[in-house]
Amino acid sequence: PLVVRDLHKSFKDVSVLNGLSLEAHEGDVITLIGASGSGKSTFLRCMNLLEVPDAGDIIVHGEPVAFKQHNKTREPASWKQVERIRSRLAMVFQGFNLWAHMSLIGNVIEAPIHVLGVPRRQARERGMALLERVGLADRADYFPAQLSGGQQQRGAIARALAVDPEVLLFDEPTSALDPELVGDVLAVMRELADEGRTMVVVTHEMDFARDVSSQVIYLHEGRIEEAGAPADVLKKPNSPRLQQFLAPRF
Ligand code: ATP
Ligand code: MG
Repeated sequence: PLVVRDLHKSFKDVSVLNGLSLEAHEGDVITLIGASGSGKSTFLRCMNLLEVPDAGDIIVHGEPVAFKQHNKTREPASWKQVERIRSRLAMVFQGFNLWAHMSLIGNVIEAPIHVLGVPRRQARERGMALLERVGLADRADYFPAQLSGGQQQRGAIARALAVDPEVLLFDEPTSALDPELVGDVLAVMRELADEGRTMVVVTHEMDFARDVSSQVIYLHEGRIEEAGAPADVLKKPNSPRLQQFLAPRF
């Protein structure tokens, strides 16, 4: 459902993405790994149109994203389309995902009601079922500040699921968490993968990448340095850089 071809992106004159491509078909779990600054977040943010790529194609469920030139900047041709693409590719970030001024259930039902036009009662029912799934049914009326980081992240996953996306994009959803909270979030993500959800996941959790990925992509300076099945990329890396990256650090 998601095809990205030859994506390029620069900030000022610094070239950050240098021709990245990826295909996530139904049920694929693609993990993106790479050193800090290699372009992982920028790549995800381009897919979701939080950044506008300078060149390249993004095709969601057969629908190519259209861009136009406005003065000297490139921008999406239609904000309506951006909204549609974002509800098909729901994203979970490292932290601060939830709107602070809304209860947890309020966060979860916001997009279904206001973007998708689902009736409130129905959105609430579905939202409660999602909170149940991520183990937060008893926290529905809490505000984000009253939840632990791990609960907030599971809430963010419930919120992402609420728009019934075709692809879930995760940008290091556990890396800002205290170690004891990481497991619960990864457990939810593993369940989603087992269910056949299509996911693109930026992560430093190599066990997760090894167990769950259909494909691992290693980025270096905005290029794909190596990609393939986890058994190859993580166990028998060819690239010396990747070998170095995977080597245990003491
Ligand atoms: P990390 O593992 O630290 O999250 P990353 O692989 O996600 O790193 P990006 O956040 O994609 O890396 O950043 C890639 C490069 O792009 C970095 O050099 C960064 O400084 C630069 N960059 C990202 N966003 C911007 C921006 N809005 N303006 C200017 N430069 C940016
Ligand atoms: Mg990042």
